Amino acid sequence: MRTIRLFNTLTRSIEPVAPIEPGVVKVYNCGPTIYSFAHVGNLRTFLFQDLLRRVFASSGFDARFCMNLTDVEDKIIRDSQAELPADADNETRLKAMRAFTNQFEKSFLEDLDALRIQRPTHMPRATDYIPQMIRLIEGLEKNGLAYERDGSVYFRVSAFPGYGCLARLDRDGMKAGASVDADEYDRDSLSDFVLWKGTKPGEPWWESGWGRGRPGWHIECSAMSLELFGEYLDIHTGGIDLVFPHHENEIAQSEGLLGHQWVSHWVHGEHLMVEGEKMSKSLGNFYTLRDLRAKGVDPIVFRFAIQSNHYRKPYNFTFDGLGASEAALKRIRAFRRRMEDASAPGGGGDFKEPIDPSERIEQARGEFWNALCDDLNTPEALAALFTLITDLNAQDDRVLMTPDERGAALAFLDETDAVFAAWPKESRALDQEIESMIEARKATKTNKNWAEADKIREELKAMGIILEDRKDGSVAWHRE
Ligand code: AMP
Ligand code: ZN
Repeated sequence: MRTIRLFNTLTRSIEPVAPIEPGVVKVYNCGPTIYSFAHVGNLRTFLFQDLLRRVFASSGFDARFCMNLTDVEDKIIRDSQAELPADADNETRLKAMRAFTNQFEKSFLEDLDALRIQRPTHMPRATDYIPQMIRLIEGLEKNGLAYERDGSVYFRVSAFPGYGCLARLDRDGMKAGASVDADEYDRDSLSDFVLWKGTKPGEPWWESGWGRGRPGWHIECSAMSLELFGEYLDIHTGGIDLVFPHHENEIAQSEGLLGHQWVSHWVHGEHLMVEGEKMSKSLGNFYTLRDLRAKGVDPIVFRFAIQSNHYRKPYNFTFDGLGASEAALKRIRAFRRRMEDASAPGGGGDFKEPIDPSERIEQARGEFWNALCDDLNTPEALAALFTLITDLNAQDDRVLMTPDERGAALAFLDETDAVFAAWPKESRALDQEIESMIEARKATKTNKNWAEADKIREELKAMGIILEDRKDGSVAWHRE
C-alpha cells in the first residue's frame, strides 16, 4: 500500500493520509444540488474527487466514497413548487419536489458516466435522511448548542469554541451577528446559522418536535456522513467555495454532537474559471456537458484537460485549451496502438543511445506514482508518461521493441489509465463491429447507394473512426 500525501485545509500543509481503519479510506464528498444540469465547473470538482478515489484504489486501499445528492433546499423548492396551486397538500408538494429532482439526478448520472467518473459507494439523497437530521439537531439542543425560535432552530456559534478553525476566522475581531436563515452568506460577522427551517406557505414540510419544517443545507451532510461512515471520517472534500460557511458549519454540527474531532483531512479543489471569474450559475458564465458536446467536444477530452491540471490550481476554461489536451491524448493513444501492433514496421537500424525499455518503464512507473502520491500531482505524473513515450518511440524507430517490452509498456498504459481513464485498451469486440459496418458499407457502394454509404461513414465518424477509401477499392480505417 502506498502512502498518499494530501494538502489538508485544516492545517494548511501537505500531510500523509493515515486512515483510522488501516487499509480502508472513508471519504465524504459534497455532491451536487440537483435543481438543474451540472455545469462544467461543478464537474471539475467531481473529477477531482474521482481522481482521488482512483489513486487510493490503485494504491491498494479499500476506498469507500460517499457523494450526497442535495434534493431539498431553497432553489429546489422555488423551482419545483412554482406550478402548484396555493392550496396543494403536502403530499403533492413532496411528490412534485421528488419528480423535479429525479430528472436532474438522471442527467447528473449521465454526466458521471460520460466522464467515466466511477459511481460512488454511497449516493444518499438528503430527503431519505430526515429522521437522522432531526435526531442530530435534538442532540445539539441537548448539548446547549442549538436553540429554537419561531419554529426554526439555529446553531449557537458562541457556545462552540472551535468555530472558525477551518476557515481561520478571526473570532475576536468579528462582531457577533444576527442569526441567518439563508444557507449561504459571507463571513462578515459571526452568525448563528439555521439547522431547521420552520415551514412557510407553499413549501413542502416534515413533522418535527419544533413543528413542521425542513432541514437547512449544512445539517444534511453532517447527518448523512455520520449515518453512513460513523464518528470518524478520514477525508472530506468539496470545492474551495465550500470551506465557509458549509464545511465550517458541518464541523460545528458534527463535533458539537460527538465531542471530538470528526474529520482528519479536509481536501478542497480549486475552481474552474472563465475569464478570471468562477464559473457559476448566478454569473451566467457557464456551460454544461451537453453544451460542450453540442460544440463537438468529446467528454473524455474535457476529462483529460481537467485531470492534467493540478487540482489546487485554478483552471481557466477555454475551447482552445481543450485542443491542446486533445492533441496530448492523441499522442498517448497513438503510442498504445503502436505497442499493440506487433507487426508495425520499425527497427532496422543502429541507435546511438539505445535504452533498456524495461528499465525505462520501471523508472517512469516510479516517477508517476511518486507524483500522484505527492498531493495528486498529475502534471508531473503525466510528464513522466510523456517522456517515456518519447523515449520508447525513438527506440522503436531504430531497434524494434520485443514482444515482452511491448507487453510491459502496455501494462504501464493500463496502470496509468486506471487513474486517468482516457486511453483504455481498444476492445476486439468493437473492432469487429467496425469491420462489419465497413463490410455493410462496401455492399451499399456496390449497389451504388451512395447516400447509405455516406450515412455509415458518418456513423463511424461519430464513433471516432475515420475511413480511408483506397484506389484499389480496399478500405482502411483508424481512430481519430
Ligand atoms: P452545487 O451543485 O452548487 O452544490 O455545487 C457542487 C460542487 O461544485 C461543490 O463542491 C462546489 O464547490 C463545486 N463548484 C461550484 N462551482 C465551481 C467551479 N466554478 N469550479 C469548481 N467547482 C465548483
Ligand atoms: Zn456538503
